[in-house]
Amino acid sequence: MSFIICEPCIGTKDTACVDACPVDCIHPRKDEGRFESEEQLYIDPEECIDCGACVPECPVEAIFPEDELPEGWSRYIDINYKWYENKK
Ligand code: SF4
Repeated sequence: MSFIICEPCIGTKDTACVDACPVDCIHPRKDEGRFESEEQLYIDPEECIDCGACVPECPVEAIFPEDELPEGWSRYIDINYKWYENKK
């Protein structure tokens, strides 16, 4: 499983979650080239250890466990996963 970043992150990209993540699996970081062009941040499902540390850090409540996504946001599972597939 993984945690998933959903719609409220679009246009927000606060990055407090990036600093809270112990395994650096939330990208792009502010110091990465794609930060400006991406509309939201994404969690790497292969690296996420499901610790939940990012959840309370998000000011817009955009992060949820994959199996507890709010209704209507299931497409964000694909959106997060695919961002990393495209990177490889
Ligand atoms: Fe990182 Fe933990 Fe959040 Fe996964 S649940 S993205 S490991 S802080």
